[in-house]
Order: sequence, then C-alpha cells, then structure tokens
Amino acid sequence: MVNAEVWKALRTELDEKHVTLVAVSKTKPASDIQELYNLGQRQFGENYVQELVEKQAVLPADIEWNYIGHLQSNKVKFIAPFVHLIHAVDSFKLLQEINKQAAKNNRVIKVLLQMHIADEETKFGMDENELTTLLEYYTAQKDTLQHIQICGLMGMASFSDDTEKVRAEFARLHNVFKFLKDSYFLYESYFDTCSMGMSGDYAIAIEEGSTMVRIGSMLFGERNYVK
Ligand SMILES: *Cc1c(COP(=O)(O)O)cnc(C)c1O
Repeated sequence: MVNAEVWKALRTELDEKHVTLVAVSKTKPASDIQELYNLGQRQFGENYVQELVEKQAVLPADIEWNYIGHLQSNKVKFIAPFVHLIHAVDSFKLLQEINKQAAKNNRVIKVLLQMHIADEETKFGMDENELTTLLEYYTAQKDTLQHIQICGLMGMASFSDDTEKVRAEFARLHNVFKFLKDSYFLYESYFDTCSMGMSGDYAIAIEEGSTMVRIGSMLFGERNYVK
C-alpha cells in the first residue's frame, strides 16, 4: 500500500526546494511501485541486485532505477544494462568494473561515492582521505574511465535521536561534497548531487544542503522484514 497523500505533499515540498526524490521500494511489491509510478514518480531505489533485476523486468521501461545498496563487483553486470544511478561506490576497483560493464552496454553510468559519516561500524563508505585518494586515481586515469560519470556523494547519518549529531554528520558530508567539487569537478556541471536524508531525517538533511533524498517507509509503510 502506497500513501498517495504523503507522496503528493512530499513531492510538492521537495520540488519547491529543488530536491530530487528517490522512492525506496526495497522489499515492497512491484504493484506498490506501479501505484506510485501512476501518480508520476519516476525515480525508485533498490538495494538488492536480484530484487532490482526482477522488478525492472516487469515494470515500465522509463523508470529511473537507483541502486542504493552495497554493490559487489561481480554483480555489476546484472544491473549495468539499465541502472540510472549507483549511489554507494566505495572503491576504485568497483568504479573500474562499473566502467567496464557500462562500456559493454554502450552506456555512461552515473555514480555517487559513498562517504562514511555515521559513528556506526556497520555502515559502508569512505572517509575523506580515501575519497581523495580515489579521486586522484580517477583523475590520473580519466581517459580510460569514459563510461562513468561521478555525480557527487552519498551518505547515511547515524540512527540517533540526537538531531544535533545527525545535523553535524550531514553538514560534514556537504562540506566534503563542496570541497571535492572545487578540487576535482569545478567545471563539470554533472557533479551536482549530494544524496542524503531518509524518512526519519530528510528535513535536517535538506537544511544541510541535500539535493537528493532516499525515502522508503514514509511512502510505502514500514518494511515487514529487514533484508
Ligand atoms: C532503506 C534505505 C533508505 C530508506 O529508508 P527509510 O527509512 O525507509 O526511508 C535510504 N537509503 C538507503 C541506503 C537505504 O538502504
């Protein structure tokens, strides 16, 4: 079940603020996605390769699929033919594999680099040094990486009731985003995406400079199981 009223209100708010909505449909049936699609939503987010491939096959071709989970190099080939944006790139090796599979499909695939901002060990992503190192490699080998486009950063804040802590984590991500833009992508207009904010913290994320929010449970209801 989709909450149409919540979607309409959210989209109105986000459109006014020029923030992109990725509707996170993981664990939810294709019929829920179709319902939101019929209302006008086009960007959807999934975080399991198998589930994404199955849904993509049965849903409208103009959906822009966002892969928001941790991606293993050996699975890139399954989503490379159609994926719109890969959010959680956290190694140069993965970047190279995405480039290779994109080339095979005659495509350019957009990616975001994941930065680790939460204090939880379990969350993937790179720190500032690792991001800089990756971008040094990237810059040096750009000629061989023509099938990817690095469009910005993605991050997840701590699961915490401490809103000041969450705010500080988002602010840090946004600062690094601006620094990397100035350092590596000053003249590349496609480097414009700071993907941060979920159902519980998107308002803070937008105040701290988010340009893209990934929202699931607020639109589709609580997930019954954690995958
Ligand atoms: C599940 C998920 C979301 C959405 O979470 P909600 O709290 O349901 O809005 C956002 N980003 C990532 C990376 C996720 O895995």
